[in-house]
Amino acid sequence: MELTALNMTEIEGLKERPVIIPLGSIEEHGPHLPLGTDILTAIALTKEVAKETDALLAPPIYYGVCRSTKEHPGTIGISPRALRLLIKDVVKSFVLQGFSRFLLFSGHAGSLHMAALKEAGEELIETQKIKKMAICSILDLIDEEMGLVTQNDSHAGELETSLIAYLYPQMVKGSAKEEYPQFPPFMIVKNKRNFWPGGVWGNPQVASKEKGGHFFRSLVRKLVKIVDSVKD
Ligand SMILES: [Zn+2]
Repeated sequence: MELTALNMTEIEGLKERPVIIPLGSIEEHGPHLPLGTDILTAIALTKEVAKETDALLAPPIYYGVCRSTKEHPGTIGISPRALRLLIKDVVKSFVLQGFSRFLLFSGHAGSLHMAALKEAGEELIETQKIKKMAICSILDLIDEEMGLVTQNDSHAGELETSLIAYLYPQMVKGSAKEEYPQFPPFMIVKNKRNFWPGGVWGNPQVASKEKGGHFFRSLVRKLVKIVDSVKD
């Protein structure tokens, strides 16, 4: 059930339902995937999860915190502070309305982005009448069962290229070569693009639409389980 389609009368009585908030980023995903890859994937997954459960699907938060890709063409990000404030305000408003069970699911898994969400989550659980809250990213859900052949796949590689090929085939423009960032260990660097020219972290060459369908179903199953534990 999508929140945006409900009216004032219908929303009454749904307050025990878990609320899913999809998050993502507007960020380069190599030369072959759309800037909206993370949020488009999160929206597709959470729509399916909302169909298979009684969860309420909140409108997506398109912008996220992007550190390593911020100089690549097309990345439009926000600060960790802005994300913390935004998610805290949105969740507090749901709590004011009587909702108390939440899943924040992010298609973008940047470390600062996830840290901002978890920091906000910690404050919310301390200060608000929240019964259950789960926060996870798409990369948190990768396991053996999914059968990725790439060891270190995290951005515009096997997983994301397969998912976009399955969900939005017209948005995949060719492919890109296998690449991994070469950031110097422990260093905070400017000119990040020098260390990661192609903006791919993984191997898009081994992606396929069929794998995308398998990854999608596996991710939906895992998210349905998380929604079930948020309801307990
Ligand atoms: Zn991504």
